[in-house]
Amino acid sequence: MGYRGRFAPSPTGELHFGSLVAALAGWLRTRQSGGAWLLRVEDIDPPREVEGSAQAILAALDRLALQADAPVLYQSRRADAYASALQQLRAEGHAFACWCSRTDIEEAGTPHRDGRCISRQRDDREPAWRLRVPDGDIVFDDGLQGSQCQNVREAVGDFVLKRADGLWSYQLACVVDDAFQGITEVVRGCDLLDSTPRQILLQRLLGLPTPTYLHLPLAVDGEGRKLSKSTDAPAIDACDPQAVFARALHFLGQPVPHTPDIATLLHVAARDFDVAPLRGVSARAAFDAAELSASGCSDTSR
Ligand code: GLU
Repeated sequence: MGYRGRFAPSPTGELHFGSLVAALAGWLRTRQSGGAWLLRVEDIDPPREVEGSAQAILAALDRLALQADAPVLYQSRRADAYASALQQLRAEGHAFACWCSRTDIEEAGTPHRDGRCISRQRDDREPAWRLRVPDGDIVFDDGLQGSQCQNVREAVGDFVLKRADGLWSYQLACVVDDAFQGITEVVRGCDLLDSTPRQILLQRLLGLPTPTYLHLPLAVDGEGRKLSKSTDAPAIDACDPQAVFARALHFLGQPVPHTPDIATLLHVAARDFDVAPLRGVSARAAFDAAELSASGCSDTSR
């Protein structure tokens, strides 16, 4: 099987510069490798979801000609797959039901790493399900950030797979779907670098393949804060692909091809894409990203 990349936005707001950079880098890397690029909407957290944002993100990608090679996968329709992964972990003794409150965990010493529920009080409530995290280091080589090592048990403890309110955790859903979509390389922001050891651990316990990882510099504002939907980063103006790509390529340390034609620009950018300028860079100012404000594409024919 050839290269398979993906972009996996959460529908918590419109496409902003930080996520566009991840989408573009993943798309360029995929095209350069002659592979397939897949989209996944990570809509597993309804309380955090902003109505209409999944469609807005997909429409912006479409306007920017960053098209996927398969139908979009929606995590909200994947509950059966997550349930069967949890069932497998339970059957093999890797998961346990947990009724612990935050206070129980604080009293016992955070994080939860007892390998069993320590709650003093169990009732009829649905439990959360946690992974019984084994001791030991998870080591991997990130294509940009170099050698990484984390003792997941020490760093995060017995993390949650399914919350008591029934919501699936990002870690479990991401691992199950990266495998389901046959992803061979994950390209995403450095804010997820410390989730990767948890994901590799889950892949090992579930017998799933581990893709390679490239964690891109995080786009930060003038004060060093991550650009994100939650800090009100402006949506990119997908009506002006030329300007959007010029800034994103500049951010990624790539030359900006001078051509008015977007298909040619993307073709040349993919052909020449070079990860070397990104090595070891964990954050970078998004310069004039603030100028990429939503200008409300009034001309829908463009
Ligand atoms: N859904 C996550 C986000 O929008 C990205 C997850 C991933 O790429 O693994 O930040």
